[in-house]
Amino acid sequence: MAKYDYDLFVIGAGSGGVRAARLAAMSGAKVAVAEEHRVGGTCVIRGCVPKKFMVYASEFSHHFKTAKSYGWTVEGATFDWQAFLAEKDKEIARLSGIYVRNLQNAGAELAHGKARLLDAHTVEVDKVGTRTADKILIATGGRPWAPKDLPGVELAISSNEAFHLPELPRRIVIAGGGYIAVEFAGIFNGLGVETALVHRGPNVLRGFDDDVRSHLAEEMEKRGITVVLGTQHTAIEKTSGGLLSRFSNGHEVESDVVMLCLGREPYVEGLGLEAAGVKLTERGAVAVDDHSRSNVENIWAVGDVTDRINLTPVAIREGQAFAETEFYGRPTAFDHETVASAVFSQPPIGSVGLSEADARKVCGKVDIYLARLKPMKYAFNGSDERALLKLVVDCATEKVVGCHVVGPDAPEMIQMAAIAIKMGVTKAQWDAACAVHPTLAEELVTMREKFVPMGLGQVA
Ligand code: NDP
Repeated sequence: MAKYDYDLFVIGAGSGGVRAARLAAMSGAKVAVAEEHRVGGTCVIRGCVPKKFMVYASEFSHHFKTAKSYGWTVEGATFDWQAFLAEKDKEIARLSGIYVRNLQNAGAELAHGKARLLDAHTVEVDKVGTRTADKILIATGGRPWAPKDLPGVELAISSNEAFHLPELPRRIVIAGGGYIAVEFAGIFNGLGVETALVHRGPNVLRGFDDDVRSHLAEEMEKRGITVVLGTQHTAIEKTSGGLLSRFSNGHEVESDVVMLCLGREPYVEGLGLEAAGVKLTERGAVAVDDHSRSNVENIWAVGDVTDRINLTPVAIREGQAFAETEFYGRPTAFDHETVASAVFSQPPIGSVGLSEADARKVCGKVDIYLARLKPMKYAFNGSDERALLKLVVDCATEKVVGCHVVGPDAPEMIQMAAIAIKMGVTKAQWDAACAVHPTLAEELVTMREKFVPMGLGQVA
């Protein structure tokens, strides 16, 4: 008789957990996955996927503005929030169903309920019971964080609720300057909601290249979003007209909805990690090594609960590396260097490698190649939208160490650039690729002149 009920027990059926569970089960291992909500996790249920549908929905208003110059008359176009939500939810349910089937087809068992560790080998799942496992994988993801001491914080929504608002607000205040804040500012603005984004920092998207950050903030304002920097909420109050946001700069703004996008935290609450002796980092994430193993020998963790790079494809790769190592005898560690990412702001961003500022710190002397131009689509319709393309090159090795794009299809472009940069492409090899015309992407391989900031004879 086997020592344990399962070879592997996975807690959390999101991107990382499902990938690990499926691969492990396909190796012949006996696998169970516990999930307290719907199968699919943040990405599928209340993150990337529904968010992208919302971006698509909201972009129509922008297309309608361009349509006239292309000969189209778009009259009386209206948006039905409820109709959209119904279609979106149908698709999310379909995708969640596919995740369930994929798990079942691989031979993994699903346990619906909140799971907690009783010790390093025992898991108790609400309404299911207690199970034992040789190996345990924690893949519970993250959840929105909000400052508990902010007066009126309970009146605000997070991204979780933004996907199911009973009605589209007339006015929204979005707090934060990260991925979620800029993406939802674009979404609500595009859907016709009077949108203000308020962020404590000097610019949005800390950590991104500075030219990208200022370019995006400018373009967001051009599209009608009020971007207020250098201040933050001190209180949210209910008024007869809606919600009043009070800010540290003394200003007040009334809106129908206040959405806090102030970061996410690892979801470890109620997991019983103490009972199993699993150590956390200072930020409350499960502390793991390069192979995603915690300090407890038979317990691993992947994805946002480890707070390394909080992106779906990273969680998937971490889950895959875990399964390869533990169930296929192929020790694999996911390389967290040079991971590309996209921000589905409007216009969107694609970014891979080092920002100019980071490259100056890491490489010393760098060359910058930069283009700002009007995307062809807007050539004759009076739009003043501009795209930005930027390459950062390490002078010592002549390698392209950063590529940053703001503009139509930037997320699609950056996937390709990421391959070359990950391979260590030099600027000369990059330029040897012939342009694809007429595209915005061709600018990336035709930038020959080094960018010299005004007032500087040479880029240091
Ligand atoms: P981010 O960490 O990206 O941004 C959090 C924002 O909140 C920052 O602008 C931060 O400011 C601000 N902030 C934090 N604490 C406070 C506070 N106490 N008061 C005021 N402002 C505060 O978090 P998000 O929630 O936007 O996204 C979480 C993660 O999810 C992302 O980092 C990303 O990894 C992932 N994600 C990825 C997406 C994609 O790939 N397209 C889309 C959505 C999410 P400051 O900069 O000053 O610290």
